[in-house]
Amino acid sequence: MTCANMGGPCDHEMVAETQEEMMMKGMEHVKAAHPEMVHDIENMTPEQSAEWQKGYDAAWAAAPMVEEAPHEDVPMAA
Ligand SMILES: [Zn+2]
Repeated sequence: MTCANMGGPCDHEMVAETQEEMMMKGMEHVKAAHPEMVHDIENMTPEQSAEWQKGYDAAWAAAPMVEEAPHEDVPMAA
């Protein structure tokens, strides 16, 4: 999934095997790349949070599943 899939402003791509892991990675990315968003995220109302969750669930459902790939050194795709 990309940062944009999670409501972020960029196309930074992240890979995770579970929704929870993806959420954590997304949060780490936001803190590192978009620190100005952290305050907004932490101060979302329950309504905003539920709305965000709906979009996130849909994006997650649409994202390709991560395959159980063997852990070997794969060169980064350019
Ligand atoms: Zn981003």
